Amino acid sequence: MASILVIEDNAANMRLAVLLLENAGHAVLCAGDAESGLATARARAPDLILMDIQLPGMDGLAATTLLKSDPATAAIPVIALTALAMKEDHERSLQAGCAAYIAKPLRYQQLYALIDSLVPSAMAGHRSVSA
Ligand code: MN
Repeated sequence: MASILVIEDNAANMRLAVLLLENAGHAVLCAGDAESGLATARARAPDLILMDIQLPGMDGLAATTLLKSDPATAAIPVIALTALAMKEDHERSLQAGCAAYIAKPLRYQQLYALIDSLVPSAMAGHRSVSA
């Protein structure tokens, strides 16, 4: 079980992320924009952040750069989420400090495998949940 912050402005995408993460036993924090996501990350120190790249106002890459430049949040792994399955988005997200990249729509196998690899202490979580 991990504490996971989802920063996503699209309501349907947020619902899917919350469903998949809660089904795997994780505690989910939600933010609809980069500014509130940054505040939640500092206040709650989640184990992992799912970061939509396309957000209103500050985008997810700029937000990730800020997270990585703040000692309080620099160690939190960030998974970039984007609807645009473009190789340059992948490279830009890694340059901004993201640990991994997922092209939406979310697929639970890929999401759970990434969580296991980035938050090893969370691994027991979804194994005990029957699908
Ligand atoms: Mn978006």
